[in-house]
Amino acid sequence: MKPGWFGLAAALMLAGVACQAADGPITAIVGATVIHPERDLPSAVASNSTLIIAGRRIESIGPASSTPVPAGATRIDGKGKWVVPGLIDSHIHFFQSGNLYTRPDVADFNAWMPYAKEVERNKARLPATFKVWLASGVTSVVDIGGPFWNFDVRDAALKSAAAPRVAVAGPLLSMVDRVKLDLGDPPIIRITSADEARALVRRELERKPDFIKVWFIHRQGDDLAAQEAIVKAAADAAHAAGVRLAVHATELIVAKASLRAGADFLVHSVEDEAVDEEFLALAKENRALYCPTLFVTLGYRYALSNTWRPTEAERRLADPQILAAMNDLQRIPRESLPERVVKAMNQPAPPKPSAIALQNLRKVWDAGIPVVMGTDAGNIGTLHGPSVFREMEIMTQAGLTPLQVLRSATSNGAKAMGMEREIGTLAPGNLADLVILDADPLADVMNLSKVHRVIKDGRVFVPDELIRSVL
Ligand SMILES: [Zn+2]
Repeated sequence: MKPGWFGLAAALMLAGVACQAADGPITAIVGATVIHPERDLPSAVASNSTLIIAGRRIESIGPASSTPVPAGATRIDGKGKWVVPGLIDSHIHFFQSGNLYTRPDVADFNAWMPYAKEVERNKARLPATFKVWLASGVTSVVDIGGPFWNFDVRDAALKSAAAPRVAVAGPLLSMVDRVKLDLGDPPIIRITSADEARALVRRELERKPDFIKVWFIHRQGDDLAAQEAIVKAAADAAHAAGVRLAVHATELIVAKASLRAGADFLVHSVEDEAVDEEFLALAKENRALYCPTLFVTLGYRYALSNTWRPTEAERRLADPQILAAMNDLQRIPRESLPERVVKAMNQPAPPKPSAIALQNLRKVWDAGIPVVMGTDAGNIGTLHGPSVFREMEIMTQAGLTPLQVLRSATSNGAKAMGMEREIGTLAPGNLADLVILDADPLADVMNLSKVHRVIKDGRVFVPDELIRSVL
């Protein structure tokens, strides 16, 4: 073959490949009610709409009467269905499974189940964990801290055919030690000086984290100003590299110190006292995101008192292996139970969400600070996937409307992912991450669990099939 021919053939082949990739398969959702959570009512709701997906992206959305369905498109009947952007959980941990054995620093079951075995299980089970997220309509998650192998989780999700988008933080820069979690690649690393903070941030930056995360634990007698200086060193080092700082700070004075130090993301509620004007002003100045995580402490209390029961959504959409293990307390010999559990079992009072956290959520929302929905899934009692429905239901107890809760889980969550131009809203040109529902999510947030189809990157998934594939 002459070189000229070869060049032409190669050029044609490349053009062919490029054309295929740009178009890809076409899917048309015809005649559905499309919800735009970033808008207010009534413009948030567009009934009898058609949405065209070409390849990975949304090509067009409009009234069914004036939006033609391209020839060869796969049609999905949208009558009696609702379409929302794919949900985003802005606070999860893949190194934890949600079962009893996943946090030996809190409840030590090593005598019954070695923690090393649990972590090994969690790594091997990642493909299933990815699938339960998708089955629950969650197309993006922020893993806000774990071992260095967290970065491999992000790579694995990228390569996997059925996985949510994953943003990650590496090991937590912590004020305290958690030796029971240290198997050689600890998720939590104690830092005692600004120099140590900068050094660990440097190590993490090599892996291109989406966030640097600080576990700001302040106990009586600790020097708050000295701690704040450490957090500031971490923030400055992260910001110099264009990376945002996420901080665990659950008391008002600690949250304020975090914001002064430069926090971009508060990953929990302030739950010890009411947030004040100073807090709100600091959060606004930083354009900080606020993630309430209202269910996670309840999850621990239910699970460790043997009163954890699956919700209807969890029975359908959680990892069956984890569900089966949630009642293990009945099987474990009493002498293998941690003292803390024995105590908890003796006082199984039904836990309620923190009233202060609920009031603060309302205040933070009303002040215009972006609230992002997050479960802290992976912690004991908070299962990957369908725990989002528990979390969103509690958010409505703070007085947020279903539309506001949905906004926190979509267009606001996109800010946590750092992808607000690509996901979290339904608009032409955006990545095609969306959920088709069998019931109206604005009538009741629990209807977000009635998932008919999940579409991520233009690929259509059926929740039942995803769950059956992990059995
Ligand atoms: Zn967390």
